[in-house]
Amino acid sequence: MEALKRAAASPSAQTRRVAAIAIGLILEAAVYVPSDWPDRRPGIAVAAGILIAALAGALGGIWSGLAVAAAGWGFHYFFVTEDTLPPLIGLPAWLAVGALAGWLSTTWRQTARARAHLDLELAALRESSSEAIVTVDSEGTIVSWSRGAEDIYGYGADEAIGEPLAILGGEDVVAPALVAVHAAERLEVPTAVHRRKGGEEIAVSLTVAPLDGPNDEAPGALVITADVGEPHRIDARRREIEAKYRALTEHLPVVTYVHPLGERGKCLYVSPQVSPLLGYSSEEWLAQPDLFFQLVHPEDRERVTDEIAETTASTTPLRSEYRMLSRDGRVVWVHDEAVTVRDDDGRPLYVQGFLLDVGERKHAGEERERLLAAQRSAAAEASDRQRKLDVLARASEILGSSRHFEATLRRVAELAVRDLADWCLVDLLDEEGNPTRVAAAHSGPGKPPGPEPGPEPEVDALDVARRGRPELSESRMCVPLRARGRALGALTLLTRSDGRSYGADDLAAAQDLAGMAALAVDNARLTREVEEAADAARVLTYVADGVVLIDRAGTIRLWNPAAEAITGLSSDSVLGRPAAEAIGGWKALAERIPIGAATDQVQPETFPLETGLGERWISISGVDFFGGTVYAFRDLTDARRLEELKADFVATASHELRTPLAAVYGAAQTLRRHDFALDEAGRDRFVSLIVDESERLNRIVNEILLANQLDAGRLDLMEEPFDPGDLVERVVDAAREHRPPGIRLSIEVSDEVPAVAADRDRVRQVLVNLVENAIKYSPDGGLVEVGVQETEGTVCFHVKDEGLGIPADEQARIFEKFYRLDPEMTRGIGGTGLGLYICSELLERMDGRIWVESKEGAGSTFSFELPAADQVAAARPLADARENSDS
Ligand code: ADP
Repeated sequence: MEALKRAAASPSAQTRRVAAIAIGLILEAAVYVPSDWPDRRPGIAVAAGILIAALAGALGGIWSGLAVAAAGWGFHYFFVTEDTLPPLIGLPAWLAVGALAGWLSTTWRQTARARAHLDLELAALRESSSEAIVTVDSEGTIVSWSRGAEDIYGYGADEAIGEPLAILGGEDVVAPALVAVHAAERLEVPTAVHRRKGGEEIAVSLTVAPLDGPNDEAPGALVITADVGEPHRIDARRREIEAKYRALTEHLPVVTYVHPLGERGKCLYVSPQVSPLLGYSSEEWLAQPDLFFQLVHPEDRERVTDEIAETTASTTPLRSEYRMLSRDGRVVWVHDEAVTVRDDDGRPLYVQGFLLDVGERKHAGEERERLLAAQRSAAAEASDRQRKLDVLARASEILGSSRHFEATLRRVAELAVRDLADWCLVDLLDEEGNPTRVAAAHSGPGKPPGPEPGPEPEVDALDVARRGRPELSESRMCVPLRARGRALGALTLLTRSDGRSYGADDLAAAQDLAGMAALAVDNARLTREVEEAADAARVLTYVADGVVLIDRAGTIRLWNPAAEAITGLSSDSVLGRPAAEAIGGWKALAERIPIGAATDQVQPETFPLETGLGERWISISGVDFFGGTVYAFRDLTDARRLEELKADFVATASHELRTPLAAVYGAAQTLRRHDFALDEAGRDRFVSLIVDESERLNRIVNEILLANQLDAGRLDLMEEPFDPGDLVERVVDAAREHRPPGIRLSIEVSDEVPAVAADRDRVRQVLVNLVENAIKYSPDGGLVEVGVQETEGTVCFHVKDEGLGIPADEQARIFEKFYRLDPEMTRGIGGTGLGLYICSELLERMDGRIWVESKEGAGSTFSFELPAADQVAAARPLADARENSDS
């Protein structure tokens, strides 16, 4: 209104007023002054004059109206009425019309101006506000759309105006607004969900203000919305931070609190941990002012009050430790720390702090104090102990330095008399329990006063040793030497000086020393035992007999190399395993093995044992001892086999000898008894039978002799080159003479076979033997081929038959002495089992070798090779050179 008043008094208003007066005066003058028609028509003139005054008032305001009315009345009075009374009293009517017109025009103008201002302000507000200001008509159609609305909803004014309000979020949004419009009531909604152009939801605050209308129903309403999304988010964030803060403070192992500045007794917040600490709940803290000061221990209260006052005055944080009394009367030591929280400008807001229960730490501190005191008193004892410990350390060094424990015990005794005693005696019991004094040392330089101990252990010392209980008196300590529960001896310490008397501490040191000494003695003895045992074990490695130890539980504990060789079982595979599991057939065998005590003479027995190397014959016996049984065994398989062969040989040889002998004997008897009855031819037949059988006898005996000679190494061999083809022919020719029917003989000699350098007779003997065997073991007849050829510098003979053949698994053994195939396989054909043995031995001595290829039932080929003569000749100079150098 002030502005309006000012505006009314503005220069333009002034000008208008003056102009209105001037124009009014001119027009009044024009009506009355020069003309005379007003006299004729005074009524019209009065009306014109008053109208002009009213117009001047309308144009220039009240004063202009009054001025022009007064002037018009004056003109009218002077020029028309000529001093009549009615015009004179008409003056107020003139003035009233002029003033009324002026007042009406001024009032109207002011109202119009005020309205224009309001419109401007509203427009400015509408454009500058960030809120959406939307005008709707009574139907809910948008009629105006502010810039804020454009920003919030995304629709331009051209898009929104004319659209229903429902574009802001559907019927549910517009319905309450329309209700408000119809009821001409104001509506305020703090948060509503509206929708932007494009469908995005936004949180807004909504105000619906109905516009005033002519009657009760509003012509429309102003809908104002503001985006509350951001404050909403900030609020949520604030609540989240608050929750986190609360969670943190309520889970810290401290009590946090907040109080107004300078008002420690008044709590704004106390975390719930206060309840277990002091027994008062957070609510009680908030409700009872000054509870804090009531709970501070009376002895600490003054100090705490001062400290708090001091920190409130200054900017330093509070840091204090004091006692509080809990509800149940406990004294609780707390550490209190608090700071003043300030705003951005540094103005203090409130005080925040925490209380920490430091009771345990306080107790620990007190305990530490107590321990320190104890430590100080112990320190004195410690130096004395240290001395003893030094002795013990040195003793342990000495005891560990050598295995000669008698010597080391003497050195320990010498060490003991330096610090612990005037006399130190060490007595030991040997394995049988016999006592000896191994050390008797005394402190120097001269002998200590008092009686001197003797060279033998005293009875009480031995008593201590055997009973294992120490003895302590003021001047004597005697402690047993024991290890692994066994009495080893005793250590005696004697003091003769006045200043020293033994106590429990000294006894403990003596016992430690004795413990170490006992350990050293025991170790040395054990080492000795172990070494002895190791020697025994080493011996076992070299004995040819198998030695096996099986403990009481039946587990194999020792398995020497000979046992490995005989059984084919490695020690790794049997050691630590039950014998019944590791050795096949052990259970049955173990029951039959003769077992005696260590001192018994146990006769071993021979049993077959199935091993990985086949059946072995072992001669075994056992000796029981406390830890189990030691078995010793030897392998008799080879000896047994030889025995068997020998027995077989005696049987076959006697049979072989008896047959020709019986024939000779029979023929000789016949000749003697029936000589007269026999004719010449008959006699010849018997005589030649005697000759043949004698030859056969001779051959057998020769074979036996030759085998014997070969065994004894008494056989001289000649060496002269001979033609192998010639030899083959002669042997075959001789064989042809005694050839049984069904046997055919053939010769296969290749061209240019080199001469053989060997004993011709012995080679012939080999060949004859092979040919005889070929014929003998071809009972059904067949071809016997004898041949010779050169093979890679050697001369190779062969005798091939179509006879019985030899099973593959027997082929290696037929060259063994006395070895013969089962008679069933050879249809009972006789022999000594020496022929092939002799052949192979002879050939070996002549640098040759023999082998057989055969298939059971499909004949055999025996071959042997010998060095060719030129090769031997080439080698001979070397042999000569050797002989020369030997001579
Ligand atoms: P024996 O005097 O028994 O013949 P040997 O040492 O000559 O003894 O032969 C050993 C064994 O070899 C014989 O018992 C025989 O079984 C076998 N044997 C030897 N030569 C032949 C062969 N040519 N054919 C089949 N078996 C043979």
